[in-house]
Amino acid sequence: MVEVNSLGVSFGSTRVLHDVSLRLEAGQTIGVVGESGSGKSTLAKVLVGIVAPDAGSVVVDAFDVRTLGHSQRAAFRYRRRVQMIPQDPFSSLSPRRTVGQTLAEALDPVWANVRRFEDRIAFWLERVGLPADAMNRYPHEFSGGQRQRVAIARSLILEPSVVIADEITSALDVSVQVQILEMIAEIKDELNVTMMFISHNLAVVQSVSDMVAVMYQGEIVEIGSVEQIYSDPQHWYTKRLLDADP
Ligand code: ATP
Ligand code: MG
Repeated sequence: MVEVNSLGVSFGSTRVLHDVSLRLEAGQTIGVVGESGSGKSTLAKVLVGIVAPDAGSVVVDAFDVRTLGHSQRAAFRYRRRVQMIPQDPFSSLSPRRTVGQTLAEALDPVWANVRRFEDRIAFWLERVGLPADAMNRYPHEFSGGQRQRVAIARSLILEPSVVIADEITSALDVSVQVQILEMIAEIKDELNVTMMFISHNLAVVQSVSDMVAVMYQGEIVEIGSVEQIYSDPQHWYTKRLLDADP
């Protein structure tokens, strides 16, 4: 479960998030939409524990994000539980490590031995639709869509309870987008993972989400079920977004 209460974030004197609240039950997916600069990625970064809030609280499975700084062990456990799939897969994949090494390192940063985790790595690579030999290849040897699959496997192999996907398909062409979204939808149901799906594309959000939050200038201006937001939007900004989406 994810509970965000009256969250506030400022960078210097600029307030980037203001009074953001939301609640997600286990297995629910929330889509987050809003214009560039509205604070979507900042919200994601607070949830994964890389940006500290200056007001409000974030609790994931009874674990308060404010206690992250208390011990390395607490931080390590929290970060395994809440995984972010990045927009640019290169950012979580080292060019000098094989995919197998990267996945082994995700599982155990200290004792990253591919042999030790071989079965698990092979399972997840297959699960995201990659060939068996992917384990021995380097990130640059894959297409953009395949590389995003590797990054997804890297997040899911930790079996997190919360996954945050920040614009993960925006760099891919439409047919690859659809394949990846279908795969994500399948896996999240299987694992009963709670998900935050950030995207500029309303159709993409609609296809994977149960709920939608609309952000505008650092605030959630509207939040509701997918049906309600798409058929009966209340806020003027939501209406404008829907009008702009053919
Ligand atoms: P996009 O759709 O373009 O990805 P976004 O909704 O994800 O946008 P954020 O990245 O959350 O927006 O940024 C929100 C605001 O916070 C922007 O005005 C941005 O310039 C500012 N901002 C983000 N990170 C920092 C930082 N580390 N230091 C200063 N300002 C920041
Ligand atoms: Mg962003």
